Amino acid sequence: MAFSGNVLDRASHRRGDQAWLTQQAATGLFLPFWQNRPFVLRERAAFLPWREEWRACTGIFLGLDAGQPLFAVDLPGEEEPQLGEGRFEEMRASAFVLPARDTAIAGQAKALLDWHKRHGFCPNCGAATQMRDGGYRRLCPVCNAEHFPRTDPVVIMLPLLNDECLVGRNLRFPPGLFSAFAGFVEPGENMEEAVRRELREEVDLAVGAVQYHATQPWPFPSSLMLGCYAQALSRDFQIDNHEIEAARWLSKDEVRARLANRIEDEMKLPANIAIAYHLIKDWAAR
Ligand SMILES: [Zn+2]
Repeated sequence: MAFSGNVLDRASHRRGDQAWLTQQAATGLFLPFWQNRPFVLRERAAFLPWREEWRACTGIFLGLDAGQPLFAVDLPGEEEPQLGEGRFEEMRASAFVLPARDTAIAGQAKALLDWHKRHGFCPNCGAATQMRDGGYRRLCPVCNAEHFPRTDPVVIMLPLLNDECLVGRNLRFPPGLFSAFAGFVEPGENMEEAVRRELREEVDLAVGAVQYHATQPWPFPSSLMLGCYAQALSRDFQIDNHEIEAARWLSKDEVRARLANRIEDEMKLPANIAIAYHLIKDWAAR
């Protein structure tokens, strides 16, 4: 699954040691980012030797790749920096072309760099915060509050009933796309409760058992997708017309035919980088 299976040793027990980090940086390789886009060369994430001109940029420690220290560095500016061969590629588009390994590493970097960009000030007292632990913590020098990179849990679920699954069209989806339903887990909710609430809200569907299937880190900007199947108690639903503009029950045979591109019409199922694709495909395969 895209963005999963990160092979790096994050050395989380050592990255709090600034002297050790400085040592790693001396032999480190750096993946440049610009406007949340990784630097890509010949369909690989391009790790480059350190450049003095990056001195003032935000740099984070990614981990050790068989002993090789890897970092990411965020380059500022409105104009795309020229680093020679290669270019800055939008993260989602990169996930389609990079090897799985590079997608996972670039996703980790993107989620972290993006968080630092948006969390320069202490939410407790408003003072400017300072990066610590190679990027895995920010510390407020005034009130001593510690801030940690966010991971926001999102439930994503495919309702099932007998031999059918329910897919829906969010108003923000590209034309023709139908997918699983999704929403942020709210404070005080467990995963199953969030699944039931979201399906009530979006399609007024009554749901019984909720079964966990898989998770996926999704760095847009910092989600952890919790993939579930939801046992519908009835075929009846009512779209909210607020987030969801259409929903359809699909038979397993139809899903199989669509995944095999045997049906030619406007309707599209999610791309294979998304956990929604895996929820649909894995159900159709069993
Ligand atoms: Zn503070």
